[in-house]
Amino acid sequence: MAGGDGRKFEPAMGIDSPRFAGIATFMGLPHVPVDEAGDVDIGLIGVPWDGGTTNRPGPRHGPRQMRDMSGMARRYHHALKMSPYDLASVADLGDSPVNPIDVEDALSRIEGFFKKVIAKGVRPLTAGGDHLCTLPILRAVGEKAPVGMVHFDAHTDLNDGYFGGCKFTHGTPFSRAIEEGVLDPKRTVQIGLRGAVFGFDDRNFGDKHGVRMIDIEEFHELGIDRTMEIARDVVGDGETYVSFDIDCLDPAYAPGTGTPEIGGFTNREAQFMLRKLDGLNIVGADVVEVSPPFDPSGYTALNGMTMMFELLCVMSRCLGER
Ligand code: MN
Ligand code: MN
Repeated sequence: MAGGDGRKFEPAMGIDSPRFAGIATFMGLPHVPVDEAGDVDIGLIGVPWDGGTTNRPGPRHGPRQMRDMSGMARRYHHALKMSPYDLASVADLGDSPVNPIDVEDALSRIEGFFKKVIAKGVRPLTAGGDHLCTLPILRAVGEKAPVGMVHFDAHTDLNDGYFGGCKFTHGTPFSRAIEEGVLDPKRTVQIGLRGAVFGFDDRNFGDKHGVRMIDIEEFHELGIDRTMEIARDVVGDGETYVSFDIDCLDPAYAPGTGTPEIGGFTNREAQFMLRKLDGLNIVGADVVEVSPPFDPSGYTALNGMTMMFELLCVMSRCLGER
């Protein structure tokens, strides 16, 4: 487990042993139970749960397929010229406990697990799961003070309720997080919004609370650099969470998701934007809504795990500069 120069947690090296062999963990990292994670800086975690899904299900299978596809990952980032494993102790903390048949119990189990993670001083980088998974994570990460958020998504996820008053769905996590005081709406920016909508209540909720919403049209007018300057201004220097819904990508890149919307980001645009998060105080991040049953090619999960690697790099650099 120990690296050659004293680092404790090292990914498996595909140049030494085949990347398709062995037990699948995120990035080929050692699996460390949360109770033993005291010296882990960044924990890669699965939340195999999609009980908040209102339409096409399947992200409960996302963590397992992303672990499998992360056998494709390598140690060094080609553009940033660094390896996250040189800056931070990173491990796979396994999956959060869930309950596939009871939404409120599942939310409570996930929240409890992530509170343990935070109590160990570990910054979570999570593979969902549907987007409702982010609510219990924010309850843990934002428990002491509300966090800011950079949110990549085709959807605001700022709806109020579904099906006659159900408050907990993957279309409502950020309304709840704002109401509960774990997410600071004035330090929240949403990027990539598009597609036909049920109405404008979600937009009105965001406007009322001061959320900065950037539609895909505005993104294309601004370009990547200006968009990310705005995002960085919104979240500032404070504790910031990054949530990446894979449906921010065009379905050409991410067909395996529950609520695809055409006209989205290329995977390259998304990678370049994630790199522009460098230097922010990122206390946690996730990649959600990867639904393997809708993508037999596995390419959606490849995109998902690659975005996790991009996030891991900027998270580790923010630790490295401490
Ligand atoms: Mn979402
Ligand atoms: Mn979405």
